[in-house]
Amino acid sequence: MDQPAEIRPMKLHTIALGCQMSEADAEEMSAPLASRGFSRAESPDEADAILISTCTVRQHAEDRAISLIGSLKPWKAADPNRVLIVSGCAAERAGDSIRRKFPYVDLVVGAKSIARFPELVREALDARFDALREQRESFAPEAAPTEASPVSAYLTIMRGCNYSCSYCIVPSVRGRELYRPVEDILNEARAKVAAGAKEIMLLGQTVNSYESEHDGGKVGFGDLLRLMDQTPGLERLRFMSPHPYYVDERMLSAMAECRAVCEHLHLPLQSASARVLKLMRRNYTPAAYLDKVRAARSAVPGIVISTDIIVGFPTETEDDFQETLDFLKEVRPAWAYCFKYSPREGTRSASWPDDVSREVKEDRLGRLNRLMDELTSKALNAHIGRTVEVLCEEPGFGRTRQGFNAKWAGVTRPGEAVSLAVTGATKRTLLGEIA
Ligand code: SAH
Ligand code: SF4
Repeated sequence: MDQPAEIRPMKLHTIALGCQMSEADAEEMSAPLASRGFSRAESPDEADAILISTCTVRQHAEDRAISLIGSLKPWKAADPNRVLIVSGCAAERAGDSIRRKFPYVDLVVGAKSIARFPELVREALDARFDALREQRESFAPEAAPTEASPVSAYLTIMRGCNYSCSYCIVPSVRGRELYRPVEDILNEARAKVAAGAKEIMLLGQTVNSYESEHDGGKVGFGDLLRLMDQTPGLERLRFMSPHPYYVDERMLSAMAECRAVCEHLHLPLQSASARVLKLMRRNYTPAAYLDKVRAARSAVPGIVISTDIIVGFPTETEDDFQETLDFLKEVRPAWAYCFKYSPREGTRSASWPDDVSREVKEDRLGRLNRLMDELTSKALNAHIGRTVEVLCEEPGFGRTRQGFNAKWAGVTRPGEAVSLAVTGATKRTLLGEIA
């Protein structure tokens, strides 16, 4: 059937702020739009709809989301038929104020409502697009673009968090833990590999607290790694973020024995002062954390540890901070994501005085970053003269199994595994030549 010339597929632009979970949410929420015929727009200018997946874990992250929504006012005013959707953690925490402040936002979907997103977006779109552009031909599922997967794909296995770390807003914006059924996870893994993924990153707030029923038995995180490891064509398996409490023998032996599981453990520490950890309600001591790292290193030879640290938590003294620096020198993580404490309304610690001044927080962050830069450089430089396996994610860029970035000159296809002779390193990246 001939279509009138003005009919063109609608286009969606997605912007994910914050963690990998936010990126994975944006991808999941694109699916019902894709099945209505939306294709991907690289920039807002060519988009009929924009989906922003927001973060609120620190105030700075929420401020970024708010300023982005504000900056899209002219985009929306240029064509009121355009659809602006704001989702995720900041939408959950500050949804009402976003609706009030930015009345041109069409749909605000908090992180807890992601399961209802297909229904919510249907209502919003039915009220918006004219029938012509919503012709059956233009949005029949089979006409939806079959999206190619990135070489390294995210796969959410659980939502929410049952912890109550005193500084953290995640449990209140994402709710209690919910685990996806094993079958769904394995099916999604197979689909991602069929669409081009070579590596899968399992995602969850405490990803290793995963548990589910499968084939009449209980499946824990280690069992899930073993099941995932059998996915044909899957070369690498990663996960983020495990909680130290659930790092146990079952998990470590699965890591050691599964061919695809990479030799990397991102294990957030937050602080190495036993007193501060207690106030943070992290339910481990520095000594217990060290035991887990030692167990991981002995189970998985060559495993690389990375971590998260918060500086300037209420009451943190110079001595507490020094304990963290000394502990990091002992544990030697290869890199760390370091943050200044940010009080989040409604959390337990937000009711305590935020008594470490901005200057002191900045000073501690600077000293911590300098230590971590040294440790990162040492870890990178130790590769020089060796040959490592790198999975090419973009032309000339990829990562080692241990999670180090690598760059090289010369043409390689994304998805290709290359042997890289390492010749040098920048601050964060290995440099090499294809061996
Ligand atoms: N579930 C993960 C962390 C998720 S949040 C875990 O428990 O390890 C990601 C990181 O943000 C945390 O590890 C912490 O370092 C940081 N973070 C969370 N809340 C914060 C706050 N209020 N201020 C500063 N950093 C925070
Ligand atoms: Fe936040 Fe703690 Fe849950 Fe991590 S474990 S998401 S830091 S409450």
